[in-house]
Amino acid sequence: MARLGNPTNTIAVLQKYNFIFQKKYGQNFLIDANILEKIIAAAGVNENDCVLEIGPGIGTMTQYLCENAREVVAVEIDKKLIPILEQDTLSSYDNITIINEDILKVDINTIVQEKNNGNPIKVVANLPYYITTPIIMGLFESHVPLDSITIMVQREVAERMQVGSGTKDYGALSLAVQYYAKPKVMLTVPAGCFMPRPNVDSAVIKLTCHDTPPVTVSNEKLMFDIIRAAFNQRRKTLINGLGNAAGLNVKKEQVSSALEKMGLSPTIRGEALTLGEFAVLTELLGRADESSRA
Ligand code: SAM
Repeated sequence: MARLGNPTNTIAVLQKYNFIFQKKYGQNFLIDANILEKIIAAAGVNENDCVLEIGPGIGTMTQYLCENAREVVAVEIDKKLIPILEQDTLSSYDNITIINEDILKVDINTIVQEKNNGNPIKVVANLPYYITTPIIMGLFESHVPLDSITIMVQREVAERMQVGSGTKDYGALSLAVQYYAKPKVMLTVPAGCFMPRPNVDSAVIKLTCHDTPPVTVSNEKLMFDIIRAAFNQRRKTLINGLGNAAGLNVKKEQVSSALEKMGLSPTIRGEALTLGEFAVLTELLGRADESSRA
């Protein structure tokens, strides 16, 4: 099979199978070999690696992955793409497993167990943009053994992942990503590198997963509930935002007392707090919650 990653061979495959792009699946296929080589280099894929690819499309990046990794697992939701992958574009590789499923429903821990003896895998993907955040959060929160995640995302989402407190793009995604990994934007990718052209600019970001998180917190779930509540009501002070949050079970007085102990202003907003400060706040509110139940 000829190499994909260029307009001519991509169009030939699409025409051969009368493939119609599904907008609902965020289908924008890469047609630039130079960008594909840069993604593989950024991900640092080598012959010892087991790689999970989310959304192989017609197998463009998968060909590069199969040639560089020991083992590749590709999860694709669109059943119309499966015969193209199995019978055509990936048929000459013996280190690929294709799974026709929604990535949000797949048990990735079982895949890692079966294919890599439970050792950390690398995730490499040109993500469907409509579910970027659920995919990233799903990978982190299900505690899949991960070495790194190298993904193409919308450029502004990549920027949101790596900014710090006090900036307008800082939010729950920045904090979650930075708790689990070290983010680094590796390259920006113009719309002309895809077929069809997306309406947004794209970037490849590498999230190198921490062995241990940079802050210690006894109740991870509570910290992320607090972070989500803080940014759900971004314009409100933290006291009002957390005090009003449904399901958080925290009183305004408890938030006020915790902020005082931390030496922070009672009018502070969530966007001003660092990850470390959210961790301290979580410990204080967790303790307050326990004593109010006692
Ligand atoms: N990797 C290919 C490339 O770079 O040319 C295709 C990338 S395209 C941006 C995203 C791919 O993800 C599409 O093939 C789409 O069908 C697939 N996809 C969308 N939603 C998915 C989901 N929930 N689970 C698995 N794959 C999905």
